[in-house]
Amino acid sequence: MPDPQISPLRVLDIANAPRILGRVLSYAWQYKARFALAGAASLAATLFNLAIPRLLGWSVDQAHALLSHRGAPPDSILTQLAHMGLFIIAAAAGRGLAQMIAGYQAQHIAQAVGRDLRLQFFEKLQRLSFDFHDRIHSGDLITRGMLDLEGVRGFIENALQACLSLVLLVSIGATMLVLQNPLMALLAMSFVPFALWRAGRMGLTLRLAWTRLQEKMSILTRVMEENLQGMRVVRAFAAKDFEIKKYDEAGDEALRLSNRRIFIRSGAMVQINTSYFLAMGLVVWVGGQQVQAHHFTVGQLTEFLTLMTILQLPVRQMGMIMNASSRAVSSGKRLFEILDKPTTIRDVAGAQVLHSPRGVLRFDDVSFSYDSTAPAIEHISFTVQPGQTLGIVGPSGSGKSTIAQLIPRFYDVTSGRITLDGKDIREVTLDSLREAVGLIAQDVFLFDDGIDANIAYADPEAEIHELIDAARTAQIHDFAASLPAAYSTRIGERGMGLSGGQRQRLSIARGMVPDPAVLVFDDATSAVDAATEHQLRAALRAATHAQATIIISHRLGSLLHADEIIVLEAGRIIERGTHESLLAAGGYYAALFTAQSQSGTEGVAA
Ligand code: ADP
Repeated sequence: MPDPQISPLRVLDIANAPRILGRVLSYAWQYKARFALAGAASLAATLFNLAIPRLLGWSVDQAHALLSHRGAPPDSILTQLAHMGLFIIAAAAGRGLAQMIAGYQAQHIAQAVGRDLRLQFFEKLQRLSFDFHDRIHSGDLITRGMLDLEGVRGFIENALQACLSLVLLVSIGATMLVLQNPLMALLAMSFVPFALWRAGRMGLTLRLAWTRLQEKMSILTRVMEENLQGMRVVRAFAAKDFEIKKYDEAGDEALRLSNRRIFIRSGAMVQINTSYFLAMGLVVWVGGQQVQAHHFTVGQLTEFLTLMTILQLPVRQMGMIMNASSRAVSSGKRLFEILDKPTTIRDVAGAQVLHSPRGVLRFDDVSFSYDSTAPAIEHISFTVQPGQTLGIVGPSGSGKSTIAQLIPRFYDVTSGRITLDGKDIREVTLDSLREAVGLIAQDVFLFDDGIDANIAYADPEAEIHELIDAARTAQIHDFAASLPAAYSTRIGERGMGLSGGQRQRLSIARGMVPDPAVLVFDDATSAVDAATEHQLRAALRAATHAQATIIISHRLGSLLHADEIIVLEAGRIIERGTHESLLAAGGYYAALFTAQSQSGTEGVAA
């Protein structure tokens, strides 16, 4: 069943196909010298190839003269035949050499284009803003960056050279035949219009199949990726069978599409080959009559038939060419779609570099919505001076993380402005802004590397004593030092060898190392036990006395010392003040604090 969401017309995108192929070619064209060499070698191979039927034709005519005792004396004809044999060997060797040069250059260009595209794709993913990444599955991106990129590269490697040889052979070969005998040339080439039409039709159907196949491959990668990342959830809920079934179904569909692709290709090739052999039969039949009527020599007939045999290979390659170009168009479209995505968050022209920022952070009537519908936060204003702490409290979904993510410009505000040291953060360079802001989130991502490398991620030049200081502040030093290889201990993929609290503390140490002017802790201690958190807060207060600090926390005990606390609800500030003034006001904060004190979850450890 075709996917109802993809209309064939939209997928075929006929008007855009030449543009996409042209763009693929432009990548190869960057290697002009190699491209020209490959073209010249293909031309040489074609000429050597076409010389063979002519030499054979002459040889047959000479042998015929030998039998009919006409023309030159037999000895000299035999010598000429020996020379012809040598020329044929030389032409075959020349063709082989030229094909090898052309093939090598094509491979070289294809590998280089593959590398260029991979790099460009990776850089683009790094630059694309979060509003893009929020809307696309990473499995889909992986498929585009691997399989679709391979589709584009494969076209340059295989189809381009085959296509060039086909065009050269058919056009030069046809000219040679027409010059000799127009009627016979017409018969010999009679299959070409049908073959081109059939190959073109095959190309369109293949493109549809390729696009659907690539989309199924994206689903397979997505399911695989989600299962690997969420393996614990899958196992915990005994959902293994359900997940395998999901993967199986997508796999079956991909297999069905692959088979369909092969069926389309072989069906069309049977028809093209039949038309070719029909033309050959016509040449034999009419050629025989022409020889009988002395309009044609046996040698010329041999030349025609040999030439047609030579044409057979590129004609057979038509299937491969159409398959590869269909794949290149569907893959190219998916790949270029990402490469052409505008980067919404980027440096404006003339963006300034923030030099040694003091860290005066100000939100000035800031509103923001993720998808231009309901705003996630509205009319938020506050100022945090260096050395001050702002606490943010509120129920889940009230907009706390949104505020945190606007500070390093993961998203741009919808209205209002955020300033750092009085400069609108949209007018400073992203690099210098992100160096000035340390955002430590609840979800920790650690790299499969040493503890030291993970802590030094933001500043690989940092000295080991700086890493240890940061680890001490984050209350992770004792644990790191107790490990067999201490700070060099490698932590498994995504830090799986560590508890949630240890991972969060490592992430805090990592955030401290570059010594940013603004520190934002977005529920960064949610998995740390209350007693450790208490020590951690005390150490952080000492270490961040010069920084502007924002703490988002569910444990109100973490915010007792904040200079100001804002309470959010549905994206708006409903209360603000110090811990004492908020308690005195008896509102949401006071109620929450009382509730937490009674249940012992406010985290005010002794
Ligand atoms: P909190 O941190 O207080 O739990 P968030 O700032 O994460 O709240 O979310 C505020 C609102 O924005 C919620 O309604 C949430 O559904 C929405 N939201 C958060 N992240 C995204 C996103 N990436 N895309 C669209 N909506 C989002």
